[in-house]
Amino acid sequence: SHSLLRSADLAKLHFSFEFFPPKSEEMEGQLWATIDDLAGWRPEFVSVTYGAGGSTRAPTLSTVRRLLAETALPTASHFTCVGASRDEVHQVVEDFRAAGVRHFVALRGDPAGGVGAAYQPHPGGYANAAELVAGLRSIDDFEISVSAYPEKHPESRDTAADIDMLKRKVDNGANRALTQFFFDNDVFERYLERVRAAGITIPIVPGIMPIQNLTQLKRFAGACGTTVPARLDERFEGLDDKPAERAAVAADVAAEQMADLVRRGIHEFHVYSMNRAPLVNETFARLGLTRKVAETTGAAA
Ligand code: FAD
Repeated sequence: SHSLLRSADLAKLHFSFEFFPPKSEEMEGQLWATIDDLAGWRPEFVSVTYGAGGSTRAPTLSTVRRLLAETALPTASHFTCVGASRDEVHQVVEDFRAAGVRHFVALRGDPAGGVGAAYQPHPGGYANAAELVAGLRSIDDFEISVSAYPEKHPESRDTAADIDMLKRKVDNGANRALTQFFFDNDVFERYLERVRAAGITIPIVPGIMPIQNLTQLKRFAGACGTTVPARLDERFEGLDDKPAERAAVAADVAAEQMADLVRRGIHEFHVYSMNRAPLVNETFARLGLTRKVAETTGAAA
């Protein structure tokens, strides 16, 4: 089969993988097998999400600790300030720093009531991610990634307000933005033009969501403000009970989106792995990428 990209483009590609902390022993086994598998792609970094309402600080910390101890993968910890005072935030940052974390994905987080509930900053806490970034910067010289929303955050009045918040995060010291997932590259390109016009020069890294299950994804996308184009319905039509064909289409879709972004000059991607390797592997193979020996997983090997 033909690869979608030429070797000159392939040589320029960089990517990161996002994981979430496992919620059971079975999921834990799955996560570590996935990390071992995906390490062969030599990501720039991997990141571990932080649970809603700060509920999974312990699982995030233990996952990050193990990544730092057993692999050579540069590891970022997501971190939210929802429901916490500044002192509590700083205590958690100390715990992560003591574990060896040098890179945070700094987020406001969603209210305990879930997406859609009104956000109430903790009275003694940080009101948004821009304030959190400033707080992290005051603690240490961390690498700091933040969120960006090509289709705007659901709470944002409009795209201008959204880009204004991104600008504040950058002014306070953010080094990179990772985007919410999206499927329309024209939307991303227009967003990027507006971001650059606002004087924001940090990398804006597209978040790529390989589609494990379109029905589930649509529910989730609605809450995130991500549009799922009708053409995806057409691609997945009739494949509900055909997992192998569905996986092949999903890899095609993700690889086509990435290849198109490369043609628009993008060479860095943040991939939402959902703690599963096969779809990522299939997608990357279609692009024409080849794996390196998985020597990055030092002690685990
Ligand atoms: P901010 O950057 O502070 O704000 C986002 C936008 O919302 C801004 O543009 C601003 O205009 C608008 N806004 C913010 N507050 C208000 C307000 N009070 N009124 C009106 N508009 C407002 N969540 C987790 O819980 N754990 C994670 O690990 C996690 N990882 C993520 C990773 C990525 C790459 C992304 C894109 C999101 C992630 N999230 C995570 C989700 C995130 O916490 C939610 O989207 C949350 O609602 C906003 O956090 P933020 O840091 O993007 O907010």
